Amino acid sequence: MSTEEQECHRCGEPIPPRRLQVLPNTRLCLDCSQAVGGDFETYVISENTGKPGSLKKNYGSWKVKRKLRSIAPLEKK
Ligand SMILES: [Zn+2]
Repeated sequence: MSTEEQECHRCGEPIPPRRLQVLPNTRLCLDCSQAVGGDFETYVISENTGKPGSLKKNYGSWKVKRKLRSIAPLEKK
């Protein structure tokens, strides 16, 4: 197991090990995560389960997708 220290992709500060235990793949420290809204962008798409060309539409299904948010590093002064 790697105990490599992770640095926040936004501010460059080390990410607290406790946070990494909960979110091993996070790239953000807590402050930055709150500032940008988290590692992921979440969006919901409707799934049309009706057959193509069919007039009968079925909107009963929704899919939640998550996309890795692109993190812009903070400018250092
Ligand atoms: Zn940060």
